[in-house]
Amino acid sequence: MIYFDNAATTAPLPAAIKRFEEVNASSFGNASSNHAFGFQAKRILDEARESILKSLSLEKTHSVIFTSGATESNNLALKGLALHYANRGKKIITSSIEHPSVLRPLYDLRDHFGYELVVLPVNREGVVTPEALEAVMDEKVILVSLMAVNNEIGSIFDLTRLAAIVHKYKKAFFHVDATQAMCKLAFPYGVCDLLSYSGHKFGAFKGTGVLLYKKNIVFEPQNEGGEQEDGLRAGTSNVAGNAALSLAQTEGLRNLEKHEDIVRPLNKELRRYLLTKDGVLINSPEDASPYVLNFSLTKKKASVVVEALSNREIYVSSVSACSSKVAPFSYVVEAETGDRQRAENSIRLSFSALNTMDEVLSFEKAFDEILTEVKDR
Ligand code: PMP
Repeated sequence: MIYFDNAATTAPLPAAIKRFEEVNASSFGNASSNHAFGFQAKRILDEARESILKSLSLEKTHSVIFTSGATESNNLALKGLALHYANRGKKIITSSIEHPSVLRPLYDLRDHFGYELVVLPVNREGVVTPEALEAVMDEKVILVSLMAVNNEIGSIFDLTRLAAIVHKYKKAFFHVDATQAMCKLAFPYGVCDLLSYSGHKFGAFKGTGVLLYKKNIVFEPQNEGGEQEDGLRAGTSNVAGNAALSLAQTEGLRNLEKHEDIVRPLNKELRRYLLTKDGVLINSPEDASPYVLNFSLTKKKASVVVEALSNREIYVSSVSACSSKVAPFSYVVEAETGDRQRAENSIRLSFSALNTMDEVLSFEKAFDEILTEVKDR
């Protein structure tokens, strides 16, 4: 098998599996229990929290909430914060290419809670420019939510400059969905007032995630029922899953440059190859994350090509996994290129440091064969 769908999920790291098994076997107590076995579990959870903050050098400024993944982190950050600070202002800014777990809660705040939502378009490089953000900022803004790296095309947002604009306004908080950046690209962690990500994108497990938030921020819990996570996220803690996440994150950050050095030449070679193909248009900007390469087919149906690849055990994605069952086109590619047909026929390849140049060359051979086999649409 050739697995080029790492933006959807990654293989768990053997060390993360080992840690999960160890903690589940030796410390399966409930971290909220009032006895020594519960305290032992709580200690592991707190160590995981500390290690996450340390690995990002945020221990002085931020706190960690463990969640079930970036979807929950985004919902909690956006709704929790907007509902808490409604008396300060009700204007929120985001971009048109955010993940649905950012866009949907924001639409809900707009449609059912009376917030003003500005959805900024992206430019041809698939990013919101600092100038575009500056033009819509004012004293009413309480929240700006932008991603670090886009999950479909890999465009990288300039968080340093964007955050500097947000922070000119005292009432505005900056939330960053860093799901496709964490452990892949270094970015300025400290400029984010709130930061969301999932463990399963860097070798930890599905159903684990983090919301980091600046210590002075208050928000309304979205899951109520217990006092876990300082009362901000009720529910029995997933101690083993969170311990594995913290381990995978420390490993991922330690190996960040090494992994990038593995992935970058693979992306470069595939880009070179695709540029030689008639009927292929590359959607990922030149300076995109090396972990993602998105392109469109002008003559073939992407879904048919993805299926033909799958039949050869080569796994890539047409629309991102989160919307592939409902959306017949990529709203991200459409927002970037302004071209619906291109958005209907896009393919995303996404890599990890486990991929090899041999796999890239096998992909190219298979792709050549498929392009001759599959009928034009
Ligand atoms: N944000 C981005 C940018 C993502 O790529 C994803 C996962 N595709 C999510 C949020 C949601 O992550 P999860 O499904 O793990 O909650």
